Order: sequence, then C-alpha cells, then structure tokens
Amino acid sequence: MAAYVLLLEDDPSMRFLLGSYLEKSGFRVTTAANAADFFAACARHMPDCVLLDLGLPDEDGLVVARKIRQRSDVPMIIVTSRQEESDRLTGLELGADDYVVKPFHPRELIARIHNLLQRSSRRSATTDPVPSTPSSGVPFGELLIDFGKRQLVVIKDHQAIVLTPGEFDCLAALILAKGNFVTRDQLKDAISNREDPPDDRTVDSIICKIRRKIKQAGCRSDKIRTVRGHGYQIDSDAFGA
Ligand code: CA
Repeated sequence: MAAYVLLLEDDPSMRFLLGSYLEKSGFRVTTAANAADFFAACARHMPDCVLLDLGLPDEDGLVVARKIRQRSDVPMIIVTSRQEESDRLTGLELGADDYVVKPFHPRELIARIHNLLQRSSRRSATTDPVPSTPSSGVPFGELLIDFGKRQLVVIKDHQAIVLTPGEFDCLAALILAKGNFVTRDQLKDAISNREDPPDDRTVDSIICKIRRKIKQAGCRSDKIRTVRGHGYQIDSDAFGA
C-alpha cells in the first residue's frame, strides 16, 4: 500500500502544489493548514511520514516537531523557508530526521521521503532489542549521528560514543555542512553557549577529542579532515551509500 504522508503547510499555493506533487509521486496525502488540523489528522490515522513547515499561524513548527517526537518515531522532514542554522539545528535536535529549505526541487523532497521511509522500514524490520539502537540520524562512514538523542553511534554494533555537549555540537555542525568545510568561527558559534567564550584553541581541542573518541571506539577513520588555515570538514565520501 502507498505510504501515507501528512503535510503541514499554511501557505495555500505551496500546500496545493506540494500535495499534488506528492500524490502524483504515488503517496497517499493529507494536508493541514495549521497545527490543530495537523494533530487532528495524526489522531485519526498516524502517517508514515510527516512534512512540517516551521512558520505557522497557530503554533511554532519547532514546538509541533517536539510534540510529535514526544509521542511517535514517525519519520519527520522539516520543509521551511527559514535558513538560519540555529533553526536547522534545533529542528534536528528536536528529532526531525531531515531538513529541506525552500526553494527546493520537489524531486529532492521525494527522494528524501523515500530514503527516510526505507531507513525506517529497515529499522522496524530489525529484531535487535538493544535499547541504544539508533532511532533517527545521519550516517557518515562507520558512524551514525542521532540528533534526537544527541548521540554518536558505531553502526555495526550500536556502541554509543559518549560526547560532551560541546563535542556533539561541533560534530553536528560539521555533519550538517555535508562535506563543505566549516570555519573555526562557525564552530565557535555552534558551541557559544559554554561558560567560557570559546577561542580557536578550544575548537581545535574539541575536534582532537572527538577524533580520539572515534578512534578508541575502533573505527578505521574519523572522517574529519583539517582544512589548513580554514577549519574542518567531513570527508564527502562519508555520506556515500
Ligand atoms: Ca509558513
């Protein structure tokens, strides 16, 4: 049976366009123009995937994201025109599985939905009851970063690598850059909620600790490259199939 997608989007033309495109792509679709209708639709029939706009008339989309995650593991993609890194990070930290910024090509969104549905069906097909089994996240190399649980996990044995909040935020910023390099200033911004204002050396030392922890977990490569004079990046091949 076709996967059931619930789209929350307050802009009427965007809702119509995206809704029809999803239907043409073979999904069963319900659309909601506000958070109240969205939750009512969830209560009637839990979707296989939800698409969330962030700017809504009755509730902040990030609050909606958190409420969904509190009650369900449903695959969740944030679809929004907000470009700020902090919203992107907050959305992923609240448990969104993916993020698309408008304007985007509808085919990109469809591909992301398919990927997510595939990952989630693999997840539910697994009989492994280990509680640390990753529930959502982005794989890179031998590792998976779980934004919902703020965890770094070795894929093959589900071993969690314990990171401090600063280490997690730095690594998250690198992963979200998807192979592009991230400057030390950007990494400082990512960890600016620390008591002591971070400097370049703080960033370098955090990266060094992340690398050590990944190595200690038995991984062949940490996939973090130093871009001399600029900052750091994740090897783009880490995101390959
Ligand atoms: Ca909107």
